[in-house]
Amino acid sequence: MNASLIYLDNAATTPVDPRVARLMADYLTEDGTFANPASRSHMAGWLAEQAVEGARRQVADTVGADPREIVWTSGATEADNLALIGYMRAHRDRGHHLVTSTIEHKAVIDTAIALEAEGFEVSWVKPDSQGRITPDAIKSALRSDTTLVSVMAVNNELGTENDLQAIGRVVHTHGAAFHVDAAQAVGKIPLDLQHLPVDLMSLSAHKAYGPKGVGALFVRRGLQIAPLIHGGGHERGMRSGTLPTHQIVGMGEAFRLVLEDHAKDKDRLHILNSRFRDGVVALEGVHIHSPLMGSVPNIVNVGFDGVEGESLIMALRKLAISTGSACNSASVDPSYVLTEIGVPREEALASIRFSFGRFTRDDDIDLALAELKHALTTLRA
Ligand SMILES: *Cc1c(COP(=O)(O)O)cnc(C)c1O
Repeated sequence: MNASLIYLDNAATTPVDPRVARLMADYLTEDGTFANPASRSHMAGWLAEQAVEGARRQVADTVGADPREIVWTSGATEADNLALIGYMRAHRDRGHHLVTSTIEHKAVIDTAIALEAEGFEVSWVKPDSQGRITPDAIKSALRSDTTLVSVMAVNNELGTENDLQAIGRVVHTHGAAFHVDAAQAVGKIPLDLQHLPVDLMSLSAHKAYGPKGVGALFVRRGLQIAPLIHGGGHERGMRSGTLPTHQIVGMGEAFRLVLEDHAKDKDRLHILNSRFRDGVVALEGVHIHSPLMGSVPNIVNVGFDGVEGESLIMALRKLAISTGSACNSASVDPSYVLTEIGVPREEALASIRFSFGRFTRDDDIDLALAELKHALTTLRA
């Protein structure tokens, strides 16, 4: 990466941890474990299968699941699609109603809209002013024909955490199933599926120092979902396609490191968070949209008074930052997450998400704050 660019966009993606990258290289070339893990007829295939199953256990261990409950996908987007479409289609006879929120990631929102086109009904729950989806709001949306509720663990633009225990209890008391998009939660909040009332959970490798293009769906034992991708019957029929051994090994190692480095990462992120928040509040005319309590330390979303969003981004060219989510940054619409929590359109357009990670240094924060101060002074003059 350009050495003068300060990378504060870790909620869009993280760099692959060098320990992960080194390991992945052993699963690609002729002198490595490159064979098809589904090849049952030779030793090379068995070794690849062993690597895949080892990684499956590492991912399962990090979220408190059984390895048999982990289905490999190409990422959290596919996992969200498989969870929502796969569950709703498999349980058509029980009901046609899905409940989700207005501030989910597009991978959930657009999937729910696709289900509406297929004849399912969707209720869209609004967040509170901090971006939290309350158990009461979910409760009010439930109907006798509700089969599935989908709520994210951590919002990708605000960092706000949801109370999965309380929401899951409401959903299960009602007899519906609970899906959680946990792409932003791994390594940030503890996820123990042994004790969480959650039936389906979407995971991504590249938000936790693993490679892009691989993820997983946790499917609680005994739960039926209809496959989206048909073929060789891999992943017990739930997701066909030759498994990408190197990607999977990378996700396994990244998730193992999440467990191993948990305390160290957490302390680092809290230090970076305080350093950044202290610096930002010292600037004039700022609004921090990410709540101080109940949000992850690596995401701080800030609105700036008296500047135009586009000009601010231009003035901050040395910072790799984001307005809203990466998937929407080509559009000039304000972030729907910010407008949903009541941020006025103009202020939403002049809001930036700063997100830190394992490789962010104190220096990066200080330089970013200096850039911000300079940009605001110039633009407001
Ligand atoms: C990044 C992200 C996704 C998409 O994950 P991919 O692995 O990139 O497909 C889904 N949901 C949330 C909340 C995310 O932050």
